[in-house]
Amino acid sequence: MMDAQTLVDRLGEIVGPQNVLSSQMDLMLYSYDASPEKGMPDVVVLPGSTEEVSKIMVLAHKEKVPILGRGSGTNLTGGTIPVQGGIVVHFSRMNRILDLDIPNRTVTVEPGIITLDLQTEVLKKGFVYQPDPASQKVSTIGGNIAENSGGPHCLKYGVTSNHIQGLELVLDDGTVVETGGKAWDEPGFDITGLFVGCEGTLAMVTKAILKLERAPEAVKTMLAVYETIEDGANTVSAIIAEGIIPATLEMMDNRVMRAVEETIHAGYPLDAAAVLIIELDGMPQGMEECALKIMDICKENNVREVKLAKDEAERATLWAGRKGAFGAVGQVRPSYQCCDGTVPRTKLPEVLNKVIRIGEKYNLPIGNVFHAGDGNLHPLIMFDERDPEEKARVQKAATEILKACADAGGTISGEHGVGLEKLRETSFIFCETDLAFERTLKQAFDPNNIINPGKMIPEAVC
Ligand SMILES: Cc1cc2nc3c(=O)[nH]c(=O)nc-3n(C[C@H](O)[C@H](O)[C@H](O)COP(=O)(O)OP(=O)(O)OC[C@H]3O[C@@H](n4cnc5c(N)ncnc54)[C@H](O)[C@@H]3O)c2cc1C
Repeated sequence: MMDAQTLVDRLGEIVGPQNVLSSQMDLMLYSYDASPEKGMPDVVVLPGSTEEVSKIMVLAHKEKVPILGRGSGTNLTGGTIPVQGGIVVHFSRMNRILDLDIPNRTVTVEPGIITLDLQTEVLKKGFVYQPDPASQKVSTIGGNIAENSGGPHCLKYGVTSNHIQGLELVLDDGTVVETGGKAWDEPGFDITGLFVGCEGTLAMVTKAILKLERAPEAVKTMLAVYETIEDGANTVSAIIAEGIIPATLEMMDNRVMRAVEETIHAGYPLDAAAVLIIELDGMPQGMEECALKIMDICKENNVREVKLAKDEAERATLWAGRKGAFGAVGQVRPSYQCCDGTVPRTKLPEVLNKVIRIGEKYNLPIGNVFHAGDGNLHPLIMFDERDPEEKARVQKAATEILKACADAGGTISGEHGVGLEKLRETSFIFCETDLAFERTLKQAFDPNNIINPGKMIPEAVC
């Protein structure tokens, strides 16, 4: 590999020296993300255009230097950890809306745009870009695409892959290709689909065409309060079984509510075992009846009370608590590991009970805040990463939780990906033939294995 200073100089020729970071302090800032993993890059580069990204890829390809894309580093699985050093391409300068096309209901953006900034802009025209990861204030569209992110509203509207119509990609050798477009139903391979959720392991995304939908005319948000987690979880299955798909069905347990109340003061009941945030959206006609039906289902499942948000301010407060919950658990312990397993909805009570038992077994506090409607659990194991013995227990507990999800007919990731963190756990859901197929695919796009190496697919056991 080319020496570090030459790499810095060559990148400076492409993007300008002011857009290359190489001091120890700068590199350290790019050595971590929202997961507990760590690893130092050799250099960080901030391109301003597709052309520059292409030139950077040509250099990495020629010199066989590992390279990875980075949005805001909020991924929870070590996806942006440069495990083999090399170049981090930070997309923060490529953050523009390029084309807001209301008649075709699309918006074309650069990958570094912050998800909420985009959503705020399109809402001014009466439209929404639906995928709303709880990290939307910080995460980027490039990161959302790479991780195929979900969010509270994805129960009704689907995850990121359902909202991407086309991509501009820079391949390993610098070639720029476009997939999909504003027209629907292109013939041939679904190449866009292949790149959404590939965890940044196949190419760099430099543009994306996103699907827009009309903003709902009405919204109703309820908070259902439960004495047991089982009753809340059973309500979720019962609502869906009734044929109602709310916009969101989010659950939070007592431990998480306590942490939230200490910082955000969302008004959650501290003496309850769990709450469900249930939101309906759409046309106003029929919404009242639907809300009453949901309240009946809640009562049939022993709800203590159902509160209706009276106005937009109350609704915003309920959501601020939910969306700030991950950050709030920092009150309990300085670090957390989020186990994003998914189970069939009806298995939620059983698996949640297993999670409680695993927490007891390893003597670790675990809080639950999750997309209950999708069966997508987020047990947050709270710990102190400075304590290696505790960290080792966390790893064992996380593996057992993901095994419990897989054994229940679920999977090891609903939306956060595999990254570095769940490489071993891929064996719970894939056999060696499946993994060999994935490796073949990776090799077809990245024969030198330079693009985000070491992520998503475990190395073959020889
Ligand atoms: C508090 C909190 C709440 C969260 N809530 C949710 C949630 O509700 N739903 C959910 O799905 N996730 C959630 N996440 C996880 C995380 O926010 C998402 O995975 C998000 O999509 C990551 O976006 P990012 O811009 O931070 O990407 P990064 O973390 O920077 O990168 C993620 C991956 O994308 C790749 N990448 C980034 N940009 C590009 C590009 N232009 N080209 C190629 N590859 C690229 C990186 O290499 C990496 O593999 C949450 C995280 C936190 C910390």
